[in-house]
Amino acid sequence: MIDANTVICCLIGDPVEHSLSSLIHNAGYQALGINYVYVPFRVKDIKRAIEGIRGLGIRGASITIPHKTSAIEYIDKVDPLAKEIGAVNTIINDDGVLTGYNTDCEGALKALAEVLTLGGKRAVLIGSGGGASAIAVGLKKNSVELVVLNRTEDKARKLAKQVNAEDFGSLERLPVVSSADILINATSVGMWPRANESIIPKHLLHNRLAVFDIVYNPKETRLLAEARERGCVIIYGYKMLLYQAAMQFELFTGYQAPLPAMESALTQVLEGERYATHFDRR
Ligand code: NAP
Repeated sequence: MIDANTVICCLIGDPVEHSLSSLIHNAGYQALGINYVYVPFRVKDIKRAIEGIRGLGIRGASITIPHKTSAIEYIDKVDPLAKEIGAVNTIINDDGVLTGYNTDCEGALKALAEVLTLGGKRAVLIGSGGGASAIAVGLKKNSVELVVLNRTEDKARKLAKQVNAEDFGSLERLPVVSSADILINATSVGMWPRANESIIPKHLLHNRLAVFDIVYNPKETRLLAEARERGCVIIYGYKMLLYQAAMQFELFTGYQAPLPAMESALTQVLEGERYATHFDRR
């Protein structure tokens, strides 16, 4: 029951209608029986929304597109990893002092670490937006040899320079995948409703490759389905979503996240009809 003692956490972004964060966090609160609630706010003005966090005593916020970079200007402290990435996806309010974190990076690393060891591996990362930047920082911290490819080559160049990647290029360089151990799609290609698209031709996928698609809607993208057919190890994007949310949960509550309950809430929706009918699957 929501009452005067309920601790409030929220999502701040625009749009937020498609987000699964409320579902994951509230499933965690229910599993632990703690008096917390998580609500999504569609926000245009990030400055006033952050004033609202202070004014209303909101405990924590997930920050999503388009505010992950601009939010930094209005908070008090930024965790070193988030500073390096240049984006916060989490704000914690400790008695009015707001600190920004980035849990996308470690969420992705945890999803990868479940199936492989990173050190010394060669990875091709496709994309140079927010998700790709967080992952690129994490891969370089784990001594991965990194090639960044992007539709807009100039953005790949900038990201490669920012993280000291070994190489970069446009999507014409996709055949470099033949010598890679890890392939990561961090573009929105393959996301609902264009789920029949894949960023990479199937014939370039080889059975020594681990393939991670950070797109989680649909749960198994065309890239992952084709990678499975070609004998690759596959890593679902929903795992990154789950693990970054679990880290937020722990920052918000101080409790260990109840991963089975949070994962089950998430996969039930991704695998069922409910998501198609109750959310705009963008
Ligand atoms: P973003 O900052 O807008 O970046 C989008 C990236 O996709 C850019 O590199 C862009 O290339 C590329 N792209 C878009 N359309 C393309 C196309 N038709 N062909 C080739 N490249 C294309 O977005 P983001 O926040 O990084 O998110 C990217 C995807 O990852 C989304 O589907 C998002 O839902 C997902 N995501 C998942 C998680 C998770 O936890 N699993 C976390 C973050 C994001 P240009 O630079 O050339 O435009």
